[in-house]
Amino acid sequence: MVARISSHTPTTRKPVPQFESRKTDNMKVRVDPDLCQGHTLCWMTAPDVFILDEVDGHATAIEGEIPSDEVDRVRDAIRSCPERAISEL
Ligand code: SF4
Repeated sequence: MVARISSHTPTTRKPVPQFESRKTDNMKVRVDPDLCQGHTLCWMTAPDVFILDEVDGHATAIEGEIPSDEVDRVRDAIRSCPERAISEL
């Protein structure tokens, strides 16, 4: 899977996905915007949880609890972030 990051005219961000119908494990995550450098590794690991800015590739995480079937991928993303920008809340 390849991240599509556009360098042309800024566009509005995509809506944050919601997982209201999926079982969750009381896990939430946050990306520190001051630390994130837009490597996109988190998105490649858990594309349903992390959203990339179409302009600079910086990531944000979904709001709310992480679905149970995404937790292992999110923990992998936390470990693989070279900037240690992702924290579990
Ligand atoms: S891997 Fe880390 S630094 Fe890279 S986009 Fe994701 S949160 Fe940002």
